[in-house]
Amino acid sequence: MPSETLFERDGHRNVLLEDFGGGAAVQSNQHVIIDGDEGMILDPGGHKIYGKVLAETHVQLRGAQLRHLFLSHQDPDIVAAANGWLMTTDAEAWISKLWVRFVPHFGLDRLVVERLRPIPDEGMILPLGASELWILPAHFLHSCGNFHVYDPISKILYTGDLGASLDRDYRVVRDFDAHVPAMEGFHRRYMASNAALRAWLRMARELDVEIVAPQHGASFVGKEMVARFFEWLETLEVGIDVMGAQGYRIPRRT
Ligand code: FE
Repeated sequence: MPSETLFERDGHRNVLLEDFGGGAAVQSNQHVIIDGDEGMILDPGGHKIYGKVLAETHVQLRGAQLRHLFLSHQDPDIVAAANGWLMTTDAEAWISKLWVRFVPHFGLDRLVVERLRPIPDEGMILPLGASELWILPAHFLHSCGNFHVYDPISKILYTGDLGASLDRDYRVVRDFDAHVPAMEGFHRRYMASNAALRAWLRMARELDVEIVAPQHGASFVGKEMVARFFEWLETLEVGIDVMGAQGYRIPRRT
């Protein structure tokens, strides 16, 4: 699927990049936000797609400078190619302060390591061109140091692994009920707890959201679909809600 502009107005653009995934690597979405002459890429992905994502990002930037690299958390599908991005651009990379000492294990050149910047637990506001992006706490969903991005101009909420779906070939959810099986198993095993979901929902419901855009699979477009997604999360038992009840047991020899 080719790159797709999700929003465009007065020099502010939100682009979902062409899908370069495939093979054994989990499908992942790369999003670019541009305001005026500055851009940001969200969760740029690993080595397998690095060259293609970099090239397409420059096409979409249309001469704007890549100012920020946003890393929602520490997983390889997000940070593995961070060194390449920092070496070939002047961007600063932003990740939870919990992961700043761990990401260099992927191999960060001495010349670029100081451009890996910590996000405090409470989140922050990042300037982009004449606009600003809100870096929102989403800890334990699933990583213990985890952030989402809200763009108040396009009203897109980028939710990383939250809302992720697997193995469906559409980019927009049309039938929520039919979509649930593509999300359920992932959320039950990867998300930490319903308490984390409810803490996040209390914050997310204060936002004016038109699109929820996860890092894997389809997006939720329009207020009605966003509300359906939030309702689904409200009572969903995940992570320790499920596993804690089952208990852990010493494995047996098979
Ligand atoms: Fe992840």
